[in-house]
Amino acid sequence: MKTAIKKRTFKAIYRLLDKVSPISGDCGRLCNAACCTCQEPDMGIYLLPGEEKMFSRKESWLSWNWSRAEDYEFPESWRGKVYFLQCTAAPFCDRKNRPLQCRTFPLAPHLSESGRLFMIYHSSPLPYRCPLIDEAIALNESFLKATYTAWLHLLREPLIYDLVEMDSRYREEDGEPIRILYPK
Ligand code: SF4
Ligand code: SF4
Repeated sequence: MKTAIKKRTFKAIYRLLDKVSPISGDCGRLCNAACCTCQEPDMGIYLLPGEEKMFSRKESWLSWNWSRAEDYEFPESWRGKVYFLQCTAAPFCDRKNRPLQCRTFPLAPHLSESGRLFMIYHSSPLPYRCPLIDEAIALNESFLKATYTAWLHLLREPLIYDLVEMDSRYREEDGEPIRILYPK
């Protein structure tokens, strides 16, 4: 999929998010890394448009698939390949090169109807239990802030904006919980 977002933008965002984590210490110890090791066959990670530039596709810890955006429920503006990755060695991976979705979970971006960005808990049903969400464990302010800043930058890419907008409207229509964590 053709995008305006540059590889250097993704690099800067990865670097920003490398410096923070949801809680002090490894939250994987709370749940045996449930979000990495869940054995559901459909579990995996969608890359954002343009994020594929961050990978060589020779990473031994990833297997690659793709779908045509037109064939699935992606925004109308999306055309062409959408990449879907599955981890072959989870919970082990090249951590400094893990995809964006792994860096920002359990948060999700949400746009209000007036277009204001908020970071909320991931709101759709999960096939595993994330204690950070279920027990509302306080997240590091640095993580909330960096994730918000990262999404502000990502939203400058119209295709990414369209995805977040679509997800936000679906979330409201479906009555999913919208628990705002940042900014308060
Ligand atoms: S984000 Fe949630 S599910 Fe994933 S490792 Fe941390 S606590 Fe576990
Ligand atoms: S890439 Fe790494 S952090 Fe992300 S799901 Fe796979 S094993 Fe977990």
